[in-house]
Amino acid sequence: MPRLVSHPDEVKIVTRRFGMGATDINKYVELGGYQALAKCLAQGPEWTINEMKASNLRGRGGAGFPTGLKWSFVPKQSPKPKYVLVNGDESEPGTCKDHLIFLHDPHAVIEGTMIAGLAIGAKVGFIYLRGEYRYLLEIMERAVADAYAKGILGKNILGSDFEFNVITQTGAGAYEVGEESALMESLEGKRGVPRIKPPFPAVVGLYGGPTVINNAETIATVPHVISMGAAEYAAVGTERNGGTRLFGLSGHVERPGVYELPMGYNLKKMIYEVGGGIRGGRKLKAVVPGGSSTPVLLPEEIENLGMDFDQVGKAGSMLGSGGVVVIDDQTCIVEFALRTISFYQHESCGWCIPCREGTDWLKKSLTRFHAGFGTEKDIDNIRYIAENMMGRTFCPLGDAAAMPTLGFVKKFRKEFEDHLNGKPCPFAKHVELAVV
Ligand code: NAD
Repeated sequence: MPRLVSHPDEVKIVTRRFGMGATDINKYVELGGYQALAKCLAQGPEWTINEMKASNLRGRGGAGFPTGLKWSFVPKQSPKPKYVLVNGDESEPGTCKDHLIFLHDPHAVIEGTMIAGLAIGAKVGFIYLRGEYRYLLEIMERAVADAYAKGILGKNILGSDFEFNVITQTGAGAYEVGEESALMESLEGKRGVPRIKPPFPAVVGLYGGPTVINNAETIATVPHVISMGAAEYAAVGTERNGGTRLFGLSGHVERPGVYELPMGYNLKKMIYEVGGGIRGGRKLKAVVPGGSSTPVLLPEEIENLGMDFDQVGKAGSMLGSGGVVVIDDQTCIVEFALRTISFYQHESCGWCIPCREGTDWLKKSLTRFHAGFGTEKDIDNIRYIAENMMGRTFCPLGDAAAMPTLGFVKKFRKEFEDHLNGKPCPFAKHVELAVV
């Protein structure tokens, strides 16, 4: 379980109630909870959507889509009911931030869901947790029951004519259902495989109705944006990236943990100052900036790198889910690539061939390679397979497996060559330190 950590550079907005007993609804209210909802009820849906747009809050699940814009895509009139769906199926290796939100501040998730519902004209919200977070479901369910008991959920909310209901649900342990369309399939009781997009869920979503799907961190941020005001929230981050981000710092750092830092925070500083530097005084070899599906960066590439969606994109990787995985110089990159692809091979839902077969081929090739049975041709073959998976699958899982693999092969070709023709792995003594 991630520890509660702290650093002076943190700007505590989303985490400000962590460790303060806010799972208790009375404490949550005492700490200012449900006031953002009251403000939105007074100001109305249009004002709420405009505030969200002005805040520059971008989706914290990984894609960074502007939240206010997504809400504005929902049609005002719809023959089918509209829904809010909170994606708490956090499963990306290196990512453990939503977990802390459910654990410490479940009412922020409920309040954010209600505000989203008010903004788009939905009466029902679903909060979907990953299967492995079943123990957090108890916390969420208690919070929902307390909100009903206090008259915050249900009919005539806070004396208005707004009605809203919340339903909690867990998955069964499949990474794939973190993809929003597979998540809807799962919630509807079907096999969790992706749907073709477009149509996007904002237009045709759950049970065919317009659905706003937001990551749990995004939703938990919403009440803070409303309470602070969009301008103040936006000013915390960078130009097109408002506010803070919960960064999960893991791997070979002295002080791993989840830190809330302003968008645009320098990655090198995050590793060396916030994280206390590389474990055991070793050297930095590489860093995965945003969860296992984001391409690896080299030390020279992070010197002046601000952690927001645009800057990391320009550097050739992605901010993704904010899971920063630090890799020291004693780690075998071939082993690291193998562990990464093993995850995706195991989690591929099998729905489309390039992903199902591609991840399997990559795992087989990398296993053979790491065992010392690879040939020069295998290196190009790994690249060829990965390149041919890209953009050819229903959902991003295929890309998520291919992109990091390509990054490892391109940036560490020499290390792959060092494993050729039966040579033992040069890092054999240290492979247990690889983290993914
Ligand atoms: P995406 O870019 O396809 O979509 C992002 C969001 O914007 C979706 O909700 C989508 O419906 C919406 N959207 C995009 N274009 C739209 C349009 N024209 N109209 C209406 N809505 C639109 O990305 P994605 O497939 O949802 O997510 C991929 C990301 O997920 C990756 O970047 C990865 O970092 C991340 N990821 C996160 C985890 C995790 O555990 N948090 C796990 C795996 C992957």
